[in-house]
Amino acid sequence: MPARIRIAVLHFAHETVTFLKNDTTLSEFVYPGSPASGEALLKAYPKSYMGGFVKVAREFESVELVGIESPLWPKTYMGSGWVTEEAFAHFTGNMMAGLKAEGPFDGVYLSLHGAMAVRGVPRPEAELARRVREIVGAKAIIAATFDLHGNEDEQFLEHADMGFAVKYFPHYDEYLQGERAARMLVRAIRGDYRPACVTKKVPVITATVRMWTGASPWSDLIQRALTWEAREVDVFVNVFFGFPFADVPDVGITIQAMTNGNAELAESIVRDIADLAWRKREALLGSTKIYSIAEGVALAKQAIAKAATPVVLADHSDRSGSATFLLKEIIAQNLSTVLLATIADAAATTKLKAEGAKAGDAFDMEIGGVVDESAGTPVRIQGTILNAVEGHGQFWVVVKFGRDNVLILSTYLVQVMEPFSLRALGLDPGAFKAFAIKSRVHFRRGFDDNGFAKTILLVEPDQPFLGTVHLDALPYRNVDLNKFYPYGDPDFST
Ligand SMILES: [Zn+2]
Repeated sequence: MPARIRIAVLHFAHETVTFLKNDTTLSEFVYPGSPASGEALLKAYPKSYMGGFVKVAREFESVELVGIESPLWPKTYMGSGWVTEEAFAHFTGNMMAGLKAEGPFDGVYLSLHGAMAVRGVPRPEAELARRVREIVGAKAIIAATFDLHGNEDEQFLEHADMGFAVKYFPHYDEYLQGERAARMLVRAIRGDYRPACVTKKVPVITATVRMWTGASPWSDLIQRALTWEAREVDVFVNVFFGFPFADVPDVGITIQAMTNGNAELAESIVRDIADLAWRKREALLGSTKIYSIAEGVALAKQAIAKAATPVVLADHSDRSGSATFLLKEIIAQNLSTVLLATIADAAATTKLKAEGAKAGDAFDMEIGGVVDESAGTPVRIQGTILNAVEGHGQFWVVVKFGRDNVLILSTYLVQVMEPFSLRALGLDPGAFKAFAIKSRVHFRRGFDDNGFAKTILLVEPDQPFLGTVHLDALPYRNVDLNKFYPYGDPDFST
């Protein structure tokens, strides 16, 4: 048991929609604050995995944390496609150099997502772990945290020792999983815990919009995992729902269990939960009704007429943030008192910023669309600017138009998760009858789980486009959908 414990901390995260045309290049990861190292990296995400990890690791007096230079989330957040080989090689190269220069280490913490997709690197998280292992040696303990949308198979844990994925979608427990990772990493380094892990894939694939854990059947999988963690000492269970919009070989549901040296127990837990997921496969896919945009807007209109407000109209499928289908339909069906948040349009916000746009100015511009076919065509909006501000690395323009409607223009894709976040732009969330947003499930945090919205409607365009629930319409190259329920008839038995 080392008297002094040195732990290297690394971060590399992306949720890659490989069907988007704009690659996630090296420069997307470089901006003021990123890459980060030392204390800046350790303080980068104080309420997320990193914050929880650092908090608990520092409760152990003998632990020294070393933040190795790492990129933070790219500027484009989740609105960009394949991470380039150059970007991956550049940052992992710097990480390895940092590990070498600052080592030796007793342990490594990898703050990951799990659904990063890199051109030419089929399993980037496993590849990162493999390279870290090469440098830190067989004795060091490697622990990671993951999003439940991670696409993982057994390969990551062939190189690393432990993984801790969030259990809720919306992801309420990021900080908690970071805390657990720190405590277990220290225990394993001290020889008090010997990770025995088992991983099993369940051949079920579906769109993320269906994966809300606020209700059955997705919550059943999580409840089962929590039950195992409660009834057995030192058991940790991950239920990866997977991320179908990354065209990578390890998509689909993955179950992992970790025990203290008891591989048999890990195996039986994984089998139990994998069986449950397979038994519930039909319900998992039928969990959320998706309407066409025209249907959804018509239903929103009816709900407003019956005062079942506020209404949330969520276009779950917009992956660029620039899609205008919902905006067009809201105008066509003549809705009023709707807040549309947001339409991403980097060209428009750049132009408005350069012109010194400010509150009170008249607004007349074609906005949105264009970036790819899934964004649709631009829409001309005539109105008045209510606010124009810089914040969170974006330029935001709030425009009042039509019958008391308000549109927020942003530079990049924005998922509005909490109504009160709109106050930062000078808006009163209580003033709107409907919210037209771009989100799949994260909005339920502030609009649904707390009872705020009275009507919730998930919509997508008819076409279908790259964020669709109809996965068989997507041009996969690395995934054979016939090997997954509901597209094929896979033979699954545990
Ligand atoms: Zn996620």
